[in-house]
Amino acid sequence: MTDVWGTPERTALRALAAEFTEREIAPNVDQWERDGELPRSLHERAASAGLLGTAFPESVGGQGGSIIDSTIVSEELLFRGASSGVLASLFTHGIALPHIVGSGNADLIDRYVRPTLEGRLIGSLAVTEPDAGSDVSGIRTRAVRDGDHYVVNGAKTFITSATRADFVTTLVRTGDDPHRGLSLLVVDTTTPGFTVVRRLEKMGWLCSDTGELAYVDVRVPARNLVGAEGSAFVQVAQNFASERLGLATHGYGIAQRALDLTVEWVRNRTAFGKPLIAKQVVRHKLVEMKRAVEVSRVYAHHVAERVAAGEQLYAEAALAKNQCVAACEFVVDEAVQLHGGAGYMRGTEVERHYRDARILGIGGGATEVMNDLIAKDLGW
Ligand SMILES: Cc1cc2nc3c(=O)[nH]c(=O)nc-3n(C[C@H](O)[C@H](O)[C@H](O)COP(=O)(O)OP(=O)(O)OC[C@H]3O[C@@H](n4cnc5c(N)ncnc54)[C@H](O)[C@@H]3O)c2cc1C
Repeated sequence: MTDVWGTPERTALRALAAEFTEREIAPNVDQWERDGELPRSLHERAASAGLLGTAFPESVGGQGGSIIDSTIVSEELLFRGASSGVLASLFTHGIALPHIVGSGNADLIDRYVRPTLEGRLIGSLAVTEPDAGSDVSGIRTRAVRDGDHYVVNGAKTFITSATRADFVTTLVRTGDDPHRGLSLLVVDTTTPGFTVVRRLEKMGWLCSDTGELAYVDVRVPARNLVGAEGSAFVQVAQNFASERLGLATHGYGIAQRALDLTVEWVRNRTAFGKPLIAKQVVRHKLVEMKRAVEVSRVYAHHVAERVAAGEQLYAEAALAKNQCVAACEFVVDEAVQLHGGAGYMRGTEVERHYRDARILGIGGGATEVMNDLIAKDLGW
C-alpha cells in the first residue's frame, strides 16, 4: 500500500518544517506570548523557507500540494515546540485567502494572495459578530452598493490577526435572505472608517492577536467583491471543512507534544524513591493518552486523504474535529496532572497547551454545532 504521507517529497517537507520550527519558532514562543503577537518578520521567514504557501496552487504563488502537505507542516510545528496559537496566527491566511483563490479573480489574487504567500501582507477572515457566531446567517454587517463601491457598516469580533492585518476578508450582508444575502468583500485596513476598536485579552493563544473591528461608512471598491454577490454562504461553508480538519490537526498535534513532554517529565521526576514512570498507574495514564492521540491522528489522516482525493466531506471533517478536540482536552489535562504543581505554573510548556486547547472546541464551529451537522448528514 502506498503511504501518501511518506513520499520522498513529503519526508523532505516534514524535515524542513521541523528544522524551521526548532530554529525560528520554539526558542521564541514565550517571548511572543508576552508580546501578544507574532513578528511580521516570521511571516517573511516562513515564506522564504517555502512553508507559507503549502497547499496553495503554484499558479497563485503557493508551493502546491494538498491538505496532506499542510497537515504535515502543522504537525511538525506542533510536535517540535511551536503552539496552536503560533499556527493560528502565522497561518491565518489559510482561512482568509481560499475564497479569493477559489473565485479565480486574477486582480484579487495579484493584490492579496501572492503578497500574502510571500510574507509581505497579513490577512484576516472576519465572519463573527457580537450578535452572531455559530449562526453565520445571523450576521448584520451591511454592504450597500453605491456606484463603483460598496459602503460597509457593522462590527466584527474575535478576529484572529486583525490587529496586524493589512486586509480583512469580510462577510457582509448585501441582501435580506439569511443565506443568499451574504457576500465577501476584501477590505484594506487603511480604508477610512475601518478601525480596530480593541485588542482582546484571552485565556490562551496569547501570541495570536485577536481584534474587535468597526466598519463605519467604509467605502470598498466593488472590484474587491469575492465571487458573485450573494454567494458567500456557500463559499464560507465550503472552506469550513478544511478549517475544521486543520483544527483537528491542532488537537492531536498539541496532544502528541503534551504526551512527549509528559513522558520525559515522568522519567526524570522522582517520587517515593523511584521515577514516576515506575508506577503502573502512571504508565497506564500514558498509554491512555497515547491511545487518544493515535486514534485521532489516524482518523484525521483518513479524512484528509479522502479530501485530498477530491471528496467533499463536511460531516467527516466535523467528526475528526470533535474526536481530536476531545482527545486533546483529555491529554492536556492528564499532562498537567502528571507534571504536578509545575504543570500549573506559567513557563511550563504543558500549562500553555492546556490553555491553548480550550479554544479548539469553540472556534471554527463549536462541538455542539459539529454534532448538529453530523446528525443532519446521518439523517437523524
Ligand atoms: C481566539 C478566537 C479566535 C477566533 N478567530 C476568529 C476569526 O479569525 N474569524 C472569525 O470570523 N471568527 C473567529 N472566532 C470566532 C469563533 O468562530 C466563534 O467564537 C465561534 O464560531 C462561536 O461563536 P460565538 O462565540 O458567537 O458563540 P455562540 O454562537 O453564541 O455559541 C455559544 C455556545 O453555545 C453553544 N451552541 C451554539 N450553537 C449551538 C447549537 N446549534 N446547538 C447546541 N449548542 C449550541 C456552544 O456551546 C457554543 O460554544 C474566534 C474566536 C476565538 C475565541
